Amino acid sequence: MSTTVPQSPSNAAARSRLERPWQLLIGGRFVDAADGATLVSEDPATGAPLATVAAAGAADVDRAVSAARAAFEGAAWADLTPSARGQVVWRIGELIERHADELAELESLDNGKALPIARGIDVPLAADIFRYMAGWATKIEGSTIPLSGGGAQLHAYTVREPVGVVGAIVPWNFPLLMAAWKLAPALAAGCTVVLKPAEQTPLSALRLGELLAEAGVPDGVVNIVPGFGESAGAALTAHPGVDKVAFTGSTEVGRAILRSVEPSLKRVSLELGGKSPNVVFADANLEEAIPGAAIAIFGNSGQGCSAGSRLYIHRDVYDEVVSGVASFAASLRLGPGLGGETDLGPLVSRAQWERVNGYVEGARADGARIVTGGSAPGGSGHFYAPTVIADTTPQMAVVREEIFGPVVTAIPFSTEEELVTAANDTPYGLAAGIWTRDLSTAHRVARALRAGSVWINTYNHYDAALPFGGFKQSGWGREMGWEAIELYTELKTVVAKL
Ligand code: NAD
Repeated sequence: MSTTVPQSPSNAAARSRLERPWQLLIGGRFVDAADGATLVSEDPATGAPLATVAAAGAADVDRAVSAARAAFEGAAWADLTPSARGQVVWRIGELIERHADELAELESLDNGKALPIARGIDVPLAADIFRYMAGWATKIEGSTIPLSGGGAQLHAYTVREPVGVVGAIVPWNFPLLMAAWKLAPALAAGCTVVLKPAEQTPLSALRLGELLAEAGVPDGVVNIVPGFGESAGAALTAHPGVDKVAFTGSTEVGRAILRSVEPSLKRVSLELGGKSPNVVFADANLEEAIPGAAIAIFGNSGQGCSAGSRLYIHRDVYDEVVSGVASFAASLRLGPGLGGETDLGPLVSRAQWERVNGYVEGARADGARIVTGGSAPGGSGHFYAPTVIADTTPQMAVVREEIFGPVVTAIPFSTEEELVTAANDTPYGLAAGIWTRDLSTAHRVARALRAGSVWINTYNHYDAALPFGGFKQSGWGREMGWEAIELYTELKTVVAKL
């Protein structure tokens, strides 16, 4: 499982890209940070350095915002017809697909995720959101509003205009995809962007930055400034030249961002954490529900904002489901992302490993039962065994707080009423799953759960057409679907007396 041998991409383009420098993209040029600062991205499977990357500071963010402002006001982008803009956005999707193997290997190396996940989920969904949003570029319309009468002739209408310069900040769990969810609607709407990837995983966004010129994105329309949150990220959210902040990350940093935009009241959208309930009723098809519940939490090594981390199981099938999910967990093969036979890669960093292990050991100390996992395989990589925890109480941290690792708590319930109360007893509201054969139960419970996405007899089903975002402390706004275009546009009302 664990390895200390450096991983090498099999894709020649990814291999040769790793040998070239990684710089900031500002105004269409790749440059070093003004103060020469760098950060090191590591391979989570080995803990070895993978790449040295220019690290943006406040001066670089300032240059990037100026470039984005100039590009927003300049003719090269603003004068494109919506159709031409849509074609540029479409071509980005095509280029992602053309470079899919290379991007997937870079993503797997940088984040640690198993290559089949990067190649089968991250990269195709990133390509797809550009294609989907390309279609909206020509359909961003206003309406006419009838007001005439009483002797007055009036012409009233609305127009949707791009919100302006977007500061986009993304996390490390789906680095390319989270960047794509922001870039695609922003560009389709006619905005310009300064993107700050997570310091742990900047490579795929920077590689995408190289493809943008080829797609026809004018210089300065997208600027990419990898760097640390408290320096580059904070400089971006506080910058007066940014009109809107689009953030995906932790609820804690989401709050810090709200404080930083308070003086300017710039627009903000937030995709934050989750502690999503996944519910198995007694009548569920367990052949599907058991693997479905396991993949809902263990996929991407549990590092998913919508991971089904609280598994509620009807008492009649509790023992069967817990032992089924535990067997599934034990059958998963841990290994390096490019390992060939890997189901689960390592966690992204030692810090994340410590965090996950701290929750599991805390639950053990509190008297919970570790059904499987809970131990940490040795080696220098950040591997963590998929873990099932039973005999918890609602007050335990492992039930209440987002762990962001392959750890699920299995909780029994007897009645639907009891289930709904327990499932909604969380400050989060990102997602939920329901497994049942009864249509009425499915839709009644879907209605009762306070969550932005509810999946019935499936889990983590994403599509560029489906709006995604959170209730409660899981965020503000919806990404994907038409709703994402609304996030990147302002509505103007015009009234003329004729
Ligand atoms: P994080 O909040 O620590 O970091 C996210 C990004 O914010 C990084 O780019 C980081 O550099 C930056 N950042 C940190 N401090 C900042 C500051 N003060 N100002 C501006 N930027 C700052 O989150 P993470 O640990 O990278 O990612 C895990 C979290 O992201 C989890 O809580 C997860 O639920 C959430 N997430 C949510 C979604 C969603 O769609 N709702 C998707 C993926 C991840």
